[in-house]
Amino acid sequence: MRLAMVSIGGMPRLARVDAAGQRFWPLATLAPELPEDMTALIDALSRGAQLPEPSGDGDRLEEAMLLAPLPRPPRNIFCVGKNYYAHAREFAGSGYDSSSTGAADAIPQAPIIFSKPFTAISGPWDDIPLWPGLDEGVDYEAELAVVIGRGGRNIARADAMAHVFGYTVVNDVTARDLQGTHKQWLLGKGIDGFCPMGPWIVTADELDPASMRVSCTVNGEKRQDASTADLIFDVPTLIETISRSMALLPGDVIATGTPEGVGIGFKPPRFLRDGDVVECAIEGIGRIRNTLRRQPAG
Ligand code: MG
Repeated sequence: MRLAMVSIGGMPRLARVDAAGQRFWPLATLAPELPEDMTALIDALSRGAQLPEPSGDGDRLEEAMLLAPLPRPPRNIFCVGKNYYAHAREFAGSGYDSSSTGAADAIPQAPIIFSKPFTAISGPWDDIPLWPGLDEGVDYEAELAVVIGRGGRNIARADAMAHVFGYTVVNDVTARDLQGTHKQWLLGKGIDGFCPMGPWIVTADELDPASMRVSCTVNGEKRQDASTADLIFDVPTLIETISRSMALLPGDVIATGTPEGVGIGFKPPRFLRDGDVVECAIEGIGRIRNTLRRQPAG
């Protein structure tokens, strides 16, 4: 099942989308008793509420109608640093990695968890803003994002997948210069508009997070193309790790890390510039496409 937020008459509405991504049925017509809020809907469905199968042809889904499927998760998005083997090596060699001193400790021994403010979330086609003074080291990170359904604390690896509601695509856009200067992630990754998300949430029953293809192009040139089979810490391990510290909540998002091929992996680095078009895709989910746009001063 695919769940999306679509703009209907200028209003954001929850909708179920068909497998081809071409037709949709507003939640208000399918199940008017269910909450018109994605986080609340995820909670209700995870507690056993049923979304009926759509009947009839539905409405034609124009791509432009799609909004970020989860614009207000319950808190900041959990992010994972250096979680693909090949990317960990390229990052350690980039000079921007304050968590590593070189090749010897490039591969983390335990998951590196940080967070990205949810206020950075933007839609699947929204422009990525190049804010004055924050525009010198902007990089892309295509990532599989896990959406939590049933919450819980101290979730064991073996039980973790029962807590996954579904998956979506995010671009964990990052200002590398801020990441380097301030030796942490928040300022460089929390920038407004630096988390395009979408195009919808695909429920967990349809996908296997152990083997999904994650890719990214810039102006049509392939930059990232890897399988989640290369993850250092898999989805159950991430859920176990995070829930040991804090109870996971319905609607929590875990961005699982990005594969090899980011801009700082090149020598010299290839940062994003005004007008560049970045497309992040995950097999079985879909793609998001965003254009870098210089913002006026002030
Ligand atoms: Mg990332």
